Amino acid sequence: MKNSDYLLIGAGLFNATICYLIKQKNPNASITIVEKRNHIAGNIYTEEIENINVHKYGAHIFHTSNKKVWQFVNNITEFNRFTNSPVANFKGEIYNLPFNMNTFSKMWNISTPKEARDIIDSQKKTISSEPKNLEEQAISLVGYDIYNKLIKGYTEKQWGRDCKDLPAFIIKRLPVRYTYDNNYFNDLYQGIPIGGYTKLVEKMIEGADIVLNTDYLKSKDEFNAKHIVYTGPIDEYFDCKLGKLEYRSLHFENELLDIDNYQGVAVMNFTERDIPYTRIIEHKHFENSNSSKTYITKEYPREFEQGMEPYYPVNNDKNQKLYEEYKKLADSEHVIFGGRLGEYKYYDMDKVIESAFNLFESKFNE
Ligand code: FAD
Ligand code: UDP
Repeated sequence: MKNSDYLLIGAGLFNATICYLIKQKNPNASITIVEKRNHIAGNIYTEEIENINVHKYGAHIFHTSNKKVWQFVNNITEFNRFTNSPVANFKGEIYNLPFNMNTFSKMWNISTPKEARDIIDSQKKTISSEPKNLEEQAISLVGYDIYNKLIKGYTEKQWGRDCKDLPAFIIKRLPVRYTYDNNYFNDLYQGIPIGGYTKLVEKMIEGADIVLNTDYLKSKDEFNAKHIVYTGPIDEYFDCKLGKLEYRSLHFENELLDIDNYQGVAVMNFTERDIPYTRIIEHKHFENSNSSKTYITKEYPREFEQGMEPYYPVNNDKNQKLYEEYKKLADSEHVIFGGRLGEYKYYDMDKVIESAFNLFESKFNE
């Protein structure tokens, strides 16, 4: 039996933040981190291949409007000034994202915001002012043409569900702008940690005792601590006894190519339904690597099944209700549940850090 002051289950960003905050407050605390994968950093894990920092679990761009979060990560490691400007590829036609004047101009051969507004207004006439699902929300934001070419196919591949069966909030993640601005995010701060995310997490958990290749749920008896934080899937913790929460998973296909520039952009989305992957990531563009080779990843969405990684919670009404039931069980446990899987929330990295700050303040900063 291994005894510690703090037992953190999962070596992702949530627990890395908790670990860092505990060490700052009490450098003598003993912290054990148990991770079932063979590496730290969870889904933000990066690995250097041919002088390129490869985002092994999909493109990760740090963006936030929370100054405290931005200062927190910048105090640990230096960030570059990468601005995410992905492009959408629909049957070989290239459109800028997010939806902005460049997209509208290419779609309709127009040039002014008024022309774009008039077209979108005329296309969204049939939609009620309170969109009930992702399809209605998308059409009311950008009209039918953009919905059909750039949203419907991509979204149905990504989520494996009809756009009418998905919550509107998913599409509201993307800005819609009547300016020629291709920045994918509206946030005040944005960048990539120079040298990759794994370095950032390494620094955050320095000094903790890291136990890799260990599934805590199969080895609970081997660990004991006064404080326990669990960042795995909340339903799995309870052996799915109330039913299974749904997740979307991904399959990644990687290729190292003997050319120096494959697609000219870090992220290209393939928005037609018939191409089975949603996007191709060309990793060297995140940090302007001068490698003579390039490394690309095709991202294929999958329905989650046992044994796969549960990358995305599916936050529709049915799952949300089930989550609330699990949350009640969780609240009566000695263990604290946190992070994207523990809280079953479609969190970006900055929200994960905010949530860890809140947990630390309420539970560990006495
Ligand atoms: P995780 O990173 O999932 O860490 C949880 C860890 O717990 C994992 O390492 C897991 O192996 C481990 N674990 C689970 N169960 C057990 C167990 N029983 N025993 C031991 N260990 C266990 N956010 C952004 O801000 N910008 C982006 O561009 C962005 N892009 C993304 C792209 C993709 C494809 C995905 C999937 C996510 C993206 N995100 C992005 C979100 C970001 O990855 C998450 O917000 C963040 O990594 C979540 O951190 P976490 O610690 O909560 O979870
Ligand atoms: N989306 C789309 N077309 C695109 C890009 C995004 O329809 O070219 C929709 C899709 O429903 C996606 C959502 O917008 O799930 C949010 O996109 P984001 O890039 O934020 O997704 P993530 O990076 O979290 O996978």
